[in-house]
Amino acid sequence: MRYRASALGSDGVRVTMESALTARDRVGVQDFVLLENFTSEAAFIENLRRRFRENLIYTYIGPVLVSVNPYRDLQIYSRQHMERYRGVSFYEVPPHLFAVADTAYRALRTERRDQAVMISGESGAGKTEATKRLLQFYAETCPAPERGGAVRDRLLQSNPVLEAFGNAKTLRNDNSSRFGKYMDVQFDFKGAPVGGHILSYLLEKSRVVHQNHGERNFHIFYQLLEGGEEETLRRLGLERNPQSYLYLVKGQCAKVSSINDKNDWKVVRKALTVIDFTEDEVEDLLSIVASVLHLGNIHFAADEESNAQVTTENQLKYLTRLLGVEGSTLREALTHRKIIAKGEELLSPLNLEQAAYARDALAKAVYSRTFTWLVAKINRSLASKDAESPSWRSTTVLGLLDIYGFEVFQNNSFEQFCINYCNEKLQQLFIELTLKSEQEEYEAEGIAWEPVQYFNNKIICDLVEEKFKGIVSILDEECLRPGEATDLTFLEKLEDTVKHHPHFLTHKLADQRTRKSLGRGEFRLLHYAGEVTYNVTGFLDKNNDLLFRNLKETMCSSENPIMSQCFDRSELSDKKRPETVATQFKMSLLQLVEILKSKEPAYVRCIKPNDAKQPGRFDEVLIRHQVKYLGLMENLRVRRAGFAYRRKYEAFLQRYKSLCPETWPIWAGRPQDGVAVLVRHLGYKPEEYKMGRTKIFIRFPKTLFATEDALEV
Ligand code: ATP
Ligand code: MG
Repeated sequence: MRYRASALGSDGVRVTMESALTARDRVGVQDFVLLENFTSEAAFIENLRRRFRENLIYTYIGPVLVSVNPYRDLQIYSRQHMERYRGVSFYEVPPHLFAVADTAYRALRTERRDQAVMISGESGAGKTEATKRLLQFYAETCPAPERGGAVRDRLLQSNPVLEAFGNAKTLRNDNSSRFGKYMDVQFDFKGAPVGGHILSYLLEKSRVVHQNHGERNFHIFYQLLEGGEEETLRRLGLERNPQSYLYLVKGQCAKVSSINDKNDWKVVRKALTVIDFTEDEVEDLLSIVASVLHLGNIHFAADEESNAQVTTENQLKYLTRLLGVEGSTLREALTHRKIIAKGEELLSPLNLEQAAYARDALAKAVYSRTFTWLVAKINRSLASKDAESPSWRSTTVLGLLDIYGFEVFQNNSFEQFCINYCNEKLQQLFIELTLKSEQEEYEAEGIAWEPVQYFNNKIICDLVEEKFKGIVSILDEECLRPGEATDLTFLEKLEDTVKHHPHFLTHKLADQRTRKSLGRGEFRLLHYAGEVTYNVTGFLDKNNDLLFRNLKETMCSSENPIMSQCFDRSELSDKKRPETVATQFKMSLLQLVEILKSKEPAYVRCIKPNDAKQPGRFDEVLIRHQVKYLGLMENLRVRRAGFAYRRKYEAFLQRYKSLCPETWPIWAGRPQDGVAVLVRHLGYKPEEYKMGRTKIFIRFPKTLFATEDALEV
């Protein structure tokens, strides 16, 4: 029988090859840096395709893991798989998420350096699944803490709760995260998980009141209606049928075959208990969920003066009870606006449209503030109970970032603008850190570093976030001129301020050729990942995110304990304008970048293989697009700028020592000297490799392939 090493450098794995087809031909290379034609996008995609066909969904670009969503259970996350990757060095086993998990964990333990695993990719690419697998890996393989063992369960159980409130079915993903999430897992000096902390980013709250065709509201509404006990629903005044609720019928798809709301409800209900919810708190939380549904069913009719009147008394009654507010106050707040002029309070009646707007604004505020409260509540439950003990001081942190990927739709609005800006920031960090770590490695190994040319997207980040001249500043400025400014005046101001920017275009600024594809109310940004045209309609409104004062006052008086924590009276007396949504988001991103910068990064780049959510389908156009905007070719170029392959002397010698009589079966001297003897025997030319302090660096894949092929026995 003939043996040949499987694709490249996997000491642990050998496959039997009896045909002339090499493993490399069949399953591709397990690290893109070993592609001969590394600048060719076609070769890159062909490699992905070969591996995908063989159900090999993971491939490296050096230390970066590229993952293609298989849309089927590949049975590769079992306890045995976890064990296989523990304590093994990266290249000795086939690429896997657990290799990334274990490498980060070992660095955390041995170097005591904080780690961050950043998971990116478009909607449906598998970010959240990867995050969950990572968390599971740590929960199952790390030692149990001496005290507070429950923290492992809490870490795991925080997921179903956050997903119930923050995920929804969209056209792209049946379980799409509608918020960004960064989670820290804290480890004690023995490497046991002892606590955690979650930061959430920009929940898509518009979904509470509106869903596109084929999409749903957040899972929790359907879970409660399907799974809630009779008595609970009676107390909340709810009917089982989602069709009864206007906030649930817009997408016309309450039932989804891949989702079992009834089961999920049970999981969420149990998880709430694990993360320290008392029965009272669960009741208060469900009262809020129900009140959002009742709010959606509040109707108005116009009186003879065209002023809105609430006509749905029953809904109002339930709302009053569930939110613990005065009925008359709520009725008045839904149909009037309080204006303070010259120190005097005036009540101005709302027309039908304004009243509907106020109602929806209230529903969105109630839901999104509850979500924020929920994250804070989970954080209290995850907080290390040993905070005061000496071991606390020696905790290290491993962060997991699961954040929305770059988005381009037919119609792109404020939300896409924020999300894509976030991706620019993360891409910038990625380039900075990747280049930096390459450079550091070369320096540490005493090898000359040759600078690499790359596109620095800082220019686009600046265009968005610069003080005074950036898009966010201009938007905020317009938001300060209520009554005068409109979405279109915002666009005009943008045109005036950034007209010469190479990454910015509007209809007015475009030339004849490009003008056709740009509407008058639109601006286009040339993101690192491609062009996106944004429609300015709603930008001011979404950025302002106003809630009429009397609605706020009403909510501040709520006797529902969660609501009263969400709406604080200090908000009413605060003279300062609250920060706008874009500015808050910008600040939270700057903070996130600082957090990530302070840690050693690891990357998982997720790719979605097709839009049909089906296994086995490799849609080349779709994949090529993602390879482009994830910056994978650029990443590969940086990694290959100097040397394709690097390996510790010990590992290199161990693998190839059989090829040289002087090193076989045992080399008694320093591994470095053994490698020197070995490569001389193999005929490596001086330009093909360099000897660093601890590693050999090989410039071309073909050198390594020849050595690999020589291993054949
Ligand atoms: P979004 O940005 O919309 O939140 P996402 O990147 O988080 O998307 P996931 O929810 O993780 O995407 O994945 C979408 C679906 O793809 C999952 O519900 C699951 O069915 C499938 N999936 C993802 N990763 C895997 C995997 N490794 N193995 C099997 N199925 C997977
Ligand atoms: Mg997700």
